[in-house]
Parts: sequence; structure tokens; C-alpha cells
Amino acid sequence: MHEMSITQSVVDICSQNAGNKRVTEVTLEIGALSGVVPDAIEFCFEACTKGTSLEGARLLIEKIPGRGRCRACAAEFNLDSYHEPCPACSGFGVEILFGEELRVRDLVVD
Ligand SMILES: [Zn+2]
Repeated sequence: MHEMSITQSVVDICSQNAGNKRVTEVTLEIGALSGVVPDAIEFCFEACTKGTSLEGARLLIEKIPGRGRCRACAAEFNLDSYHEPCPACSGFGVEILFGEELRVRDLVVD
């Protein structure tokens, strides 16, 4: 499962940052275009944190909507997926501004 290895690396990053301390809360940012399913991350989180300094930590997921800008006419618009044309000029040269994020935004340690 794709999300299992992603969750595992998130847990690794968190426990490295926490040092010897216990992590009680993790905030993750997941972009709508990242290809990562937040529910699946939540599902994997408990299994991946077992026996680590993150065991029992609360997982908060902040979803970042996709946002793009047209290279042709500079219009900005929300995107639900890649390969969506510009709503203003129907051009396909869209630059992704937000929505590809997958990162740990915040860690609360004891
Ligand atoms: Zn356009």
C-alpha cells in the first residue's frame, strides 16, 4: 500500500524531530493534488506509530485545495486534479500553485 510507506516516512520524520520526547500531536498538510488519500493515512497511522515515540498521538490532517494559474492568460483557479484546462481560456498550460503538499506542519511534544 502506497499510503503505508508514506505514513511510515512521516512517522520517521516526526520521531527524528522529537528526539527522545514523546509526540502527542501531529499536523499533516495534504494537498488535493498530492495523490495521497487522507483517510488512508489516518488508517495507517496507528499501525505505523505502534512502539514509537508517536504511539497514541493525535493525527490532524489539513487538506490543501488545489490551485493553479494559467500560463497563457494568468487566470488563477481551483483545481481538483491535474490536466484540467483553464476555465477562462481553455488552455492546458497550467502552473500548479498549491495542492501538491505533503508535509508535517506541526508537532506537539511532551
Ligand atoms: Zn487561461
